[in-house]
Amino acid sequence: MKLLFDRVDEPGLNTIDVYRARGGYEPLRRALAMRPDEVVAQIDASGLRGRGGAGFQMGKKAAFIPKGDMDKFLVCNADESEPGTFKDRELMQKNPHQLIEGIAIAAHATGCNRAFIYIRGEYDYVADILDGSVAEARAAGLLNHVDLVVHRGAGAYICGEETALLDSLEGKRGNPRLKPPFPANQGLYQGPTLINNVETLSTVPHVIRMGGAEYAKLGTETSTGTKIVSVSGHVRRPGNYEIELGIPSREIVYGLAGGPAEGRRVKLWFPGGSSAPVLTEEHLDLPYDFDSMAKAGSMLGSGSIIVIDDTVPVIDVAKWVAKFYTHESCGKCTPCREGTRWTLAMVERMDRGEATPMDIEIMAGVQDQIIGHCLCVLGDSMAMPIASLVKHFREEIEAHIEAARARREGIVSPDSPREQPTEATV
Ligand code: SF4
Repeated sequence: MKLLFDRVDEPGLNTIDVYRARGGYEPLRRALAMRPDEVVAQIDASGLRGRGGAGFQMGKKAAFIPKGDMDKFLVCNADESEPGTFKDRELMQKNPHQLIEGIAIAAHATGCNRAFIYIRGEYDYVADILDGSVAEARAAGLLNHVDLVVHRGAGAYICGEETALLDSLEGKRGNPRLKPPFPANQGLYQGPTLINNVETLSTVPHVIRMGGAEYAKLGTETSTGTKIVSVSGHVRRPGNYEIELGIPSREIVYGLAGGPAEGRRVKLWFPGGSSAPVLTEEHLDLPYDFDSMAKAGSMLGSGSIIVIDDTVPVIDVAKWVAKFYTHESCGKCTPCREGTRWTLAMVERMDRGEATPMDIEIMAGVQDQIIGHCLCVLGDSMAMPIASLVKHFREEIEAHIEAARARREGIVSPDSPREQPTEATV
């Protein structure tokens, strides 16, 4: 079942003529003929959950936007920076009008008269495509009710966090804000703001075209619809795949992405980008949806599966995760600023043979101190996968520490091989 990726490789799809020839902007015409609350009701009935990471229902979020005449903002979060996630890029690059139509419908539904697409700086060439498509839509009179601007970010992971994104959009340093107040009440320039991810907004035209109730028949009861999954790492066919939520995860990893190379096996996988707690091979038979991933102790997140095969030492995965989040921590709150650095130092000590197995307890304890104690979710984004690596692979980490110590203390030759390879994973 393809909705968002339907004929995505058709030449010229990024032009308004081809998009319209395929029925594009018909849902917008239909939505504009409806009252705003009727459009919100359709989105609500669809059960569409945010595709950016948190999985909050879009209809509920839209209903939080106050009614009445005032400046209201709609912000499309296109700061796709989560390692392993590259679906929004393809959606914007190949079918930009689908997103613009979704924004136009959502703006009508919530009465937002100003809209922004906040796109990460590294996607400069995609921003150029969007600029051209917005100009086409404007010239065709499709954006008379909303002023839409494409804004390029400066390349900070933290600006994908919605309140840091708003600060950045206002021209400030992108630092997360304390919540509440939530953006629906006090967001951009202190005005009511609806923030949604590219994939979420790109789905809206399909919800209006099909009708909310019909869309809700796709997927599972609580994870409705289709989802683009980015699959990367040790698979034979990495890429973006549109799936109906609830299919077995194994079907994605092995069926669509081809699984690991001959003779290798899946050691672990991140089901929702690098900030999701890792799962193991036995979890591959679980349905891929929001609730099943949560029940297994992880999360669907941005819907990006990173597969790591059995050639990679777990300590390398831990080091990669800790290094990334240490670099990207904005430093505003102590548990994240100090905890990320400290965790990285700890993992490096383990790898250098300077730690003892007792340090695993200390490291796990530090992750407990971080989770739920930060100003935004970035601290948790490191602590949750690190804690899950300890949970699933404690014995391997202990063995790694012992082997590294033996090499360091000369009990075995310093030239004795360490597990290989380090760089191949990521
Ligand atoms: Fe900044 Fe990290 Fe605190 Fe978020 S959790 S506000 S990124 S220091």
